[in-house]
Order: sequence, then structure tokens, then C-alpha cells
Amino acid sequence: MSEESVDGAAALIAATEAHSARNYHPLPVVVASAEGSTLVDVEGRRYLDLLAGYSALNFGHRHPRLIAAAKEQLDRVTLTSRAFHHDRFAAFCSELAQLCGMEMVLPMNTGAEAVETAIKTARRWGYQVKGVPSDQARIVVAGGNFHGRTTTVVSFSDDPDARDGFGPYTPGFDVVPFGDEAALEAAVDDRTVAVLLEPIQGEAGVLVPPAGYLAAVRRITAERGALFIADEIQSGLGRTGRTFACEHEGVVPDMYVLGKALGGGVVPVSAVVSSRAVLGVLSPGSHGSTFGGNPLACAVALEVIAMLRSGEYQQRATELGTHLHHELSTLVGGGSVTAVRGRGLWAGVDVAPRFGTGRQVAERLMQRGVLVKDTHGSTIRIAPPLVIEKDELDEAVEQFRAVLSA
Ligand SMILES: *Cc1c(COP(=O)(O)O)cnc(C)c1O
Repeated sequence: MSEESVDGAAALIAATEAHSARNYHPLPVVVASAEGSTLVDVEGRRYLDLLAGYSALNFGHRHPRLIAAAKEQLDRVTLTSRAFHHDRFAAFCSELAQLCGMEMVLPMNTGAEAVETAIKTARRWGYQVKGVPSDQARIVVAGGNFHGRTTTVVSFSDDPDARDGFGPYTPGFDVVPFGDEAALEAAVDDRTVAVLLEPIQGEAGVLVPPAGYLAAVRRITAERGALFIADEIQSGLGRTGRTFACEHEGVVPDMYVLGKALGGGVVPVSAVVSSRAVLGVLSPGSHGSTFGGNPLACAVALEVIAMLRSGEYQQRATELGTHLHHELSTLVGGGSVTAVRGRGLWAGVDVAPRFGTGRQVAERLMQRGVLVKDTHGSTIRIAPPLVIEKDELDEAVEQFRAVLSA
């Protein structure tokens, strides 16, 4: 590592701090290239990526199948807007609907846009199908939720960092504690058009609800004629060992909200997937996106769907996840880790306060070549690409163990 290249990284960070809004606080690593589970910084130092772009990189960096699909599409057509048809759109919609066991797809780009789409669709469905009096629709959400950053979405966040200073807020949301069946039962009434939940709360610290909770959500929404909207943007597409986290409880929602890994770590692709009865309430002009469902996005997403259909990635997440959780469980009780949660290749690890903040632990891990992200002060979130090798995962856990015993 030369002096000159060290200055290079520091200079890039300084320039970033001078010219970019401070809405993030990145770890001080400057990535120059990546492959699979490995990142290489501008100084040539290698790191294991245990964040995987918050699950946008479930298939790792630059998976050859996804890069090939993108390159092939780049040489044909990349964007048409939805003003015209293009030849990848039908396959994208039908194959994604089939993967979800649903009938219709509405493509967007980012996760937050897909959540907004779900909210608009549920409200319109409420007025047209359920018969809720106009402008009276309510949507029940869970405390500790994370569904994105738009004005409406932060209106029902209870995280002050995400919400404060952005009012006035969009009305029409009722917040109940996550995992509390009785509270949900009490909150859903005649005006409730939907219950919107993450089946496992990611940003909140990989919180898995009590067994039976998702089945209760399904029962309550079905009984009261409200839609169950599962935000599987982070929990879906293989992360937990199943295509959807809802499957662990044998539950099928009325609507999936998808994003992150759907774009294969190459392009932003999100979607709402539901029945004809629900998505059928939208008419031309009622919703849209210039980039949503573009040919490049469809080409990459089609390859993602084909990869998920094989079941191979779900299988890896199950096997490596069992191994990861076994290894992490050995850290509990030694005084350094107070709790480990999660499912599949996804874990939230609560670090004892005497080891410092989650951020400090993440910085120490970075110095040992492992990149993670802290959340909510003292939780370390672990979500490696599903293509990670077992020895790479073992190496990362070893470094974690070393940091916690230092
Ligand atoms: C990341 C995330 C979103 C927002 O997705 P963006 O692409 O960042 O807009 C919404 N819901 C969940 C559960 C997420 O993890």
C-alpha cells in the first residue's frame, strides 16, 4: 500500500464530505471493484461484504449470469417508457407473477416507490371494491417499521431520525406494536383497507415476529376484508431460505412488495405483485413511472427470477444460515453478545454496550477486512450475499469473534 494511494482514499472521502449531502455516514472504505462476496478498495485491500447492499446483492457482486443478461440487453434496447410496448415486458410480468403465485405485476424502480404504489392501490381498492367512504381509508402498520424514505412513508415511521422535520405528515395510518396479535385485532376496522408489514423487520434489527403472528395477520385481514400487504423488499427473494419470508408460516398475503435483489445488484427494479381483483383497480393515468419496467430492468430481473426458480439460492441460504446461526449462538452468554435473531442468511446481533457502539464494532471489523452495518445503536446486521462460500463466512465469524474478545 503506497503513501500516494492512502492519500487517494482520504482525498476521495474529503471530497465526498465537501460535496455530498450528509444523509449517510459511510464506513471509511472507498470501494473500487467487487466480485461475488468480495470488495476491493482503492488501495487494493480486500473485504468480505456482509451487508450485500441491504440485500440488493443477494446474488453477490457482478454475478456472471446477471452481467451477461444486462450486457446482452444493452446491445438491443434499454428504455422505451411505458408509452410503447417492448419485447421483455410480458415475460417479466408473467414470470414474476408466477414466481409469486399471483396474477398481476406493477413495476417501479425503488422500494419506496413500490410501497407508495401498494398504498395507492390499497386505497383505491378500498373505495372501489370494499366501499370505504371517500378519503376515509386507513392502513395499519407496525411500530419500528421501515418502508422507505418518501414523505408519505416517513409519515408512519416512528424513527425520529427518519421522520423529524419532514411534516406535515400524510394522514390515514394507524401504528400497532409489531408481533402483537391482539393490538392488530383491535386496530383493523371497516375503514381499514390494508395491513402493511415487513414479515421480518430488517432495519429494526432483523426482528422475527412470534410464531403464528403472520398467520394471525392473514386471518384478521381476511375476516375484516382488508388487504395483507407484505413488504418483502429486504426479507424476500431467497434471503431467509425461502423465496418469501411469509412462506415460513405458510402464509400468502394479498400483495407482495418487492425490490432490492429483484434488480440483481445491477439496476433498481421494484414491483407490486397481486391479484387481478386488486391491481385491476388501476386505470391508465392513475399511476406510473418513466423508468418502471424498462427493458434493461426486465432483462436483469428475468434472470433473477430464473435463478430463484432453481431453488439453489434458497437452499444455500438455509444451509449457510443454519451454520451462521449456530456459530453466532456460541457468542451469546460470553458477555459480549446479548442476543442473536434472524432467519436464513440474515442475522441481527446485539452487542453488549461495554464493547462500544455498533458503529465502533463495525469499524473494528472493517480493520479486519469484514464490512457490516450497525443499526439502532448496538445491533450489527449480518446479511452476506447468498453466494458466499462457507470458508468466507467462517472467516467473517472468526473476525467478529476476535473483535468481541479484544
Ligand atoms: C430498503 C427497503 C425499502 C426501501 O427501498 P428503497 O429502494 O431504498 O427505496 C422499503 N422496505 C423495506 C423493508 C426495505 O428494506
